[in-house]
Amino acid sequence: MAKLNNCPHCGSETVFIENKQGLVPAVFAQCTNCKIQTQPVPSSLDYSAKDRVAEIWNSENAKEWPAWIQPLGAHDAYSKGSKVSHKGKNWISNIDANVWEPGVTGWTEFTGGAA
Ligand SMILES: [Zn+2]
Repeated sequence: MAKLNNCPHCGSETVFIENKQGLVPAVFAQCTNCKIQTQPVPSSLDYSAKDRVAEIWNSENAKEWPAWIQPLGAHDAYSKGSKVSHKGKNWISNIDANVWEPGVTGWTEFTGGAA
């Protein structure tokens, strides 16, 4: 059975969330505390979808590049140099107090090389 590590961001328990609202049901992992999450994986193959989600969540990439979450305000905005993953890409914040979504503005896509 797929097992999720604790959150790489805050260390809290992480759970599977099943989203049955879309056209294609999907599963993703979400921290119970800070709410960071993986990308959704289509769950037509329920068991392997959870395996895949766990693989994404538990990956080394997630430790260094935690999933981006929409900051609620200045108190949890990202600082310059923060590393996140979003929509399958890695991003570095260009600015302090960054509340923008990566890919919109305020972030540079990290495309390779040793981090
Ligand atoms: Zn967390």
